[in-house]
Amino acid sequence: MAQSDTQILRALDVELTGGQPEEAPARDRLTGMLSREALLLRLERTIARAAAQPRSGFAVLFLDLDGFKLVNHAYGHEAGDLLLLQVGERVRVASRATDAVLPATPGNAVARFGGDEFVVVLEQLLRPEEALTAAERLLTALSCEYWVQGTRVTISASIGIVHSDGGYRNASDLLRDADAAMYAAKSAGRGRYALFDSTLTQRVRLRVDTERELRAAIDAGQLALVYQPIVNLQSGAVVGIEALVRWPHPAKGVIQPGEFLPIAVESGLIGPLGEWVTLKACRDFVRLRRQMGAAAPEFVSVNVSRRQLGDPALPLKLAAMLRDSQLEPEHLHIEITESELVTDFAVARQTLDAIKALGVGLSVDDFGTGYSSLASLHEFPIDIFKLDRSFMASSMRSAQGPALVAVAHAMILLARNINVRVIAEGVETAEQLALLQSLQCDMAQGYFLGRPMPIEALATHRVPMQVHGEA
Ligand code: C2E
Ligand code: MG
Ligand code: MG
Repeated sequence: MAQSDTQILRALDVELTGGQPEEAPARDRLTGMLSREALLLRLERTIARAAAQPRSGFAVLFLDLDGFKLVNHAYGHEAGDLLLLQVGERVRVASRATDAVLPATPGNAVARFGGDEFVVVLEQLLRPEEALTAAERLLTALSCEYWVQGTRVTISASIGIVHSDGGYRNASDLLRDADAAMYAAKSAGRGRYALFDSTLTQRVRLRVDTERELRAAIDAGQLALVYQPIVNLQSGAVVGIEALVRWPHPAKGVIQPGEFLPIAVESGLIGPLGEWVTLKACRDFVRLRRQMGAAAPEFVSVNVSRRQLGDPALPLKLAAMLRDSQLEPEHLHIEITESELVTDFAVARQTLDAIKALGVGLSVDDFGTGYSSLASLHEFPIDIFKLDRSFMASSMRSAQGPALVAVAHAMILLARNINVRVIAEGVETAEQLALLQSLQCDMAQGYFLGRPMPIEALATHRVPMQVHGEA
């Protein structure tokens, strides 16, 4: 059967190329792979061939490197190109292996589709599962370390897979779905593959709709900020407030950040969203300080995502917003989660030094969950650790309670030794509050001390706590 298939395919190839040997396709200049245009032509041919030969399918693997832009930022474009060359070579070798299994195939194609995107066309698959094996092989090959200009670099990739079972008639539909599957792989945690299916179409559509609505809401200034008090555990005073974003949706009610921030991050909307949040928080805070005078909190804290941290212009933008709002830099703090700091060490370091030079404070959010080595954190110019609320949630009743309290205590002592202050997050009970006071934690935040509220409510907010040492 394979023999006759091959004969038919040869005949078809001659038909499709007008009897001429295949034209030399346009090549990508860096890697020598097929270019985007050449890939599209090639796919149209593959689709036509598969339609004439329904017993053998094909699959398209859409591969995107995870975090490649950060490598570019940290080490420069030349290093980025060198890394892409090595990645391309591994993609080529890993895709070739299928040929050895199926020597009669017309040959798999590899293309560089864009910056850090590659596409592999697996021809003549007998079973769709062969595409999954190929994807696994690619992921394994790509995850081994690279050496670029004497530096060790590790990077992973996300792969979206589309099979010809989907009955595709043109290359652009096929690539659209492969791209959607690749996004699903990224959202599921990167370094993995995802197979396109029709429910994915619905999810992608919903995502696209949400993204469009979110973009419109940001442009129209329809997002809102609420503020949660941060309380000094000695004096009971509200010393800071944290800005938390909300999306009051006309039909769905108020949407929490956990639901829309991932979409904002993936789509790049986190840039404009973050800028809106920061400027609004600065302006709100200036007004609050005027209104409350000496009783006003000392700082407003704004969450900054990894994607914003990767923007080399972030320090300049912050400086411009401080000028615009007339807020003194020491009254602004930015929060970065521990895991994001550790992942993007080199990038973060430069940007954070520049932000610090402005006089803005720096907090490490969700501290204690990111498995950072304390030695590496010590490299950063940190003012505050925000002890993750998981310590509070389970510290009281669970079997690990005493051990968690001991860890929290050790962190508080350690922070004091390196001159970093500590805010405990997620304080929900008087009991937790008393425990933190006994551990001499500096500050705390949580539903017990005050829920996130509109800026206007802060001036009259009363903290339900007894000052340390009072009966
Ligand atoms: P986060 O920065 O760790 O903020 C604290 C989160 O814990 C908030 O959730 C807050 O409402 C919640 N929380 C506060 N006290 C308690 C408590 O006692 N118990 C419990 N169970 N939860 C408490 P929220 O507002 O849903 O925000 C979730 C996350 O979304 C934030 O975690 C932050 O990482 C992110 N986020 C919020 N606003 C922004 C923003 O403007 N920009 C960025 N980049 N991220 C934001
Ligand atoms: Mg935070
Ligand atoms: Mg937190």
